[in-house]
Amino acid sequence: MYALQIKDLEKIYSNGTKALKGISLNVQKGDFFALLGPNGAGKSTTLGIVSSLVNKTAGTVQIMGHDLDTARTQAKMKLGVVPQEFNFNQFEKVFDIVVTQAGYYGISTAVAKERAEKYLKKLGLWEKRSTPSRMLSGGMKRRLMIARALVHEPDVLILDEPTAGVDIELRRSMWAFLQEINEQGITIILTTHYLEEAEALCRNIAIIDHGSILVDCPMRELLGQM
Ligand code: ADP
Ligand code: ADP
Repeated sequence: MYALQIKDLEKIYSNGTKALKGISLNVQKGDFFALLGPNGAGKSTTLGIVSSLVNKTAGTVQIMGHDLDTARTQAKMKLGVVPQEFNFNQFEKVFDIVVTQAGYYGISTAVAKERAEKYLKKLGLWEKRSTPSRMLSGGMKRRLMIARALVHEPDVLILDEPTAGVDIELRRSMWAFLQEINEQGITIILTTHYLEEAEALCRNIAIIDHGSILVDCPMRELLGQM
C-alpha cells in the first residue's frame, strides 16, 4: 500500500485549461517527497485534487489505500493539508483555530484541547494561543497552518509551497520541524519551485511541467544527472 497513489489523473478547468494531462505517481509510506515544477506546471491542481478542494476530470487517487471516489471520508482522515494561502478566521484565537479544526474530524473537545496544546508548543506558538490570527506575523501564520493540519494526527502531510516568501531562518526551522515529524513516521509531500528546498529535504522527487511528469526518481539520482 502506498501513502499516495495517483493514476492517470487529468484536470481540465471549466475555461478549457488542461492543467493535468494524465499523471501517475506513487509515494511510499514514510517518504519525504517533493513535487517540483515551475509556476503553472500543475502542482497546486494536483494537491487541490488530493485534498478534495478541486474536482478531477479523470483518473484515480488513493490515500493510504482509501480511494477518493469510494472512501473519501476515510481518505480525508489520513491526510493533513497545509495550503499556500492563509485561510483562517481572522478574528479567531490561535488556540481556538486548532480546536475548531479538530472538531471537523469528530475529535472530542477534551482531546482537541490536549492536541492543540501539544502542537502549538511543538511549533513555538503556545505563547500566542490567545492572540487572534490576524495579529500573527507571516511566519507564525504558516506555523499555525501546520499545527492545524496535524491536529487529527494524519499519516500523510501535504504542504503547498510551505516556505514561499519565508525568510531563511524560519525556512531552516520549518525544514528541521518537517524532518523531525517525518522521522516520527509521517509521510510528507510538498510542492516547491526551489530545487534547493527539495534537495535539502526530500528522498524522492517528481518534476512536473505543463501538466505532465517529466522525471520521477530518488533525489540522489536526479542530483547525479546534474
Ligand atoms: P473547477 O473546474 O474546479 O470547477 P473553475 O474553472 O470553476 O474550477 O475555477 C475555480 C476558480 O478559480 C474560479 O473562481 C476561477 O475564476 C478561478 N481561476 C480561473 N482561472 C484561474 C487561473 N488561471 N489560476 C487560478 N485561478 C483561476
Ligand atoms: P502550479 O501550482 O504548478 O503553479 P497550477 O496547478 O496552479 O500550477 O496551474 C496549472 C494550470 O492550470 C495553469 O495553466 C493555471 O493557469 C491553470 N489553472 C489553475 N487553476 C485554475 C482555475 N481555477 N481555472 C482555470 N485554470 C486554472
